[in-house]
Amino acid sequence: MSDAEFTIDVYYDDDADRSQIDDKTVAVLGYGSQGHAHAQNLADSGVDVVVGLREDSSSRDAAEADGLRVATPVEAAAQGDIVSVLVPDTVQPSVFEAIRDELEPGNTLQFAHGFNIHYNQIRPREDVNVQMVAPKSPGHLVRRNFENDEGTPGLLAVYQDATGEAKEEALAYAHAIGCTRAGVIETTFREETETDLFGEQAVLCGGITSLVKQGYETLVDAGYSREMAYFECLNELKLIVDLMYEGGLGEMWDSVSDTAEYGGLTRGDAVVDEHARENMEEILEEVQSGEFAQEWITENQANRPKYWQLRAQEENHEIEEVGARLRGLFAWAEEGEEEETDDEDEKITLNE
Ligand code: NDP
Ligand code: MG
Repeated sequence: MSDAEFTIDVYYDDDADRSQIDDKTVAVLGYGSQGHAHAQNLADSGVDVVVGLREDSSSRDAAEADGLRVATPVEAAAQGDIVSVLVPDTVQPSVFEAIRDELEPGNTLQFAHGFNIHYNQIRPREDVNVQMVAPKSPGHLVRRNFENDEGTPGLLAVYQDATGEAKEEALAYAHAIGCTRAGVIETTFREETETDLFGEQAVLCGGITSLVKQGYETLVDAGYSREMAYFECLNELKLIVDLMYEGGLGEMWDSVSDTAEYGGLTRGDAVVDEHARENMEEILEEVQSGEFAQEWITENQANRPKYWQLRAQEENHEIEEVGARLRGLFAWAEEGEEEETDDEDEKITLNE
């Protein structure tokens, strides 16, 4: 690929004009994974922050203990020049209905994921900015990196530019939460939403778990031990992914044996074959047409019958029991423990 084809702009600290945010008040709605990180990073950057939480919120004490001002979502939105919507995507439309009248002309609605704007679940007036700063990482890392003087890469997008300065303001926000330290790339709400949904369905969460389960079942059904099947098809995945993360596919191929490389190169496409590719294209079409979004919205309105059923089914898969036992027996599992989060939603939304 020539440099000309590689056209993406990456924004760093020097590209941000902090006067775009320094005199403003940011209302952070929600104090979960992203909310606590944005609120604390903004406050540490000297920006005036008010956290918006429901009356009976279990996060109120934590936010106050972190030195932040807490109000209801409506009061916070009234105070905010920028309203950062960091409650779960499924509850954002109802929270927006409650606060919509607090947005004054020239105020900003700020998101970390494009779902509700892109699929028209939230329709802001034309006189407010609608923009996105999406750290490509779970919130606890956004916070930890910031405290360690490091950054978290992020995405930026402008959906509606009422003031003519939406992008500059979003860049300043990205600066204040530490994203421009690492680098921020510009995208659109559509691209962010559709690639995010496709990626988590086809590859990251859906595709990979199916691959693991089917590999495991194939070995166990053929009479091999469950423990060996678990190690081969699940545990070793981390080593392979770490290599790809560090140096792309090439570093992985270089690190495995020639036998593994030859076997993988000749057999991989037979597993994930043209049929799988057609299925991926179908999945992408359902994302693009809004069919998936509508299904998920309807599912939520019905209190998630399919979600709970599939979740239980996944929890009861034999590989989970085998894994729990093996992880209890071996020392390697201890290392990763600190990384684990007790925030359930963090596992569900994978935007990082
Ligand atoms: P969380 O699930 O962590 O948000 C939890 C917060 O939302 C809590 O403070 C909770 O309040 C509040 N909340 C939940 N339900 C309601 C409700 N009905 N009314 C008012 N407040 C409510 O969200 P995330 O941080 O995971 O996601 C926020 C946004 O960031 C989403 O758009 C997501 O897609 C995006 N994003 C998430 C990433 C991640 O790693 N998690 C990565 C990048 C983007 P209470 O404290 O009262 O329970
Ligand atoms: Mg306001």
